[in-house]
Amino acid sequence: KKTQLNFKLVLLGDAAVGKSSCVERFVKNEFFEFQQPTIGAAFLTQTIPLEDYIVKFEIWDTAGQERYRSLAPMYYRGAAAALVVYDITDPDSFDGAKTWIQELQRQGAADIVIGLAGNKLDLSSQRKIDSKEAKSFADENGCIFYETSAKTGANVQEIFVAIAQKLPKN
Ligand code: GDP
Ligand code: MG
Repeated sequence: KKTQLNFKLVLLGDAAVGKSSCVERFVKNEFFEFQQPTIGAAFLTQTIPLEDYIVKFEIWDTAGQERYRSLAPMYYRGAAAALVVYDITDPDSFDGAKTWIQELQRQGAADIVIGLAGNKLDLSSQRKIDSKEAKSFADENGCIFYETSAKTGANVQEIFVAIAQKLPKN
């Protein structure tokens, strides 16, 4: 029987970028055009079987609204991993993601594994954020980077697996 390792993962990013939708896709393989805005935060779990062990993510999906901003440290404190999401059609949300990554690097755990997801890849005809620009920002900051679509499912599993593989095994 494979060992199971538990890790706390926090979702951060501006409101309406698709944080909850990415989690719904990852955990339930579902998508809703009218996803309810998250109040405070939601808790979900999902396991990923890797070759030698099983990663169980304990996921805190936070609300992106400004009025909940001060609550964020409660959720990222002690988190082994963070998935920071922006919307590739919304430049403000990319600025927001950069701010979250800086905050995590200053205030989060020293060895936190950070994934950056450029979500709504299915809307690439309305793209405002160049993928190369986002990739180089991620590289400079040691973050895993994928463009994702919670709607089609593109790269959602992949970014969680990449985070799982980068987490320490002890
Ligand atoms: P959150 O506030 O970051 O949790 O965002 P939600 O998950 O609530 O999503 C906000 C809106 O964006 C909802 O209407 C979703 O259906 C929509 N949405 C989320 N992900 C995608 C995506 O990948 N593509 C498209 N086209 N819409 C998405
Ligand atoms: Mg939400």
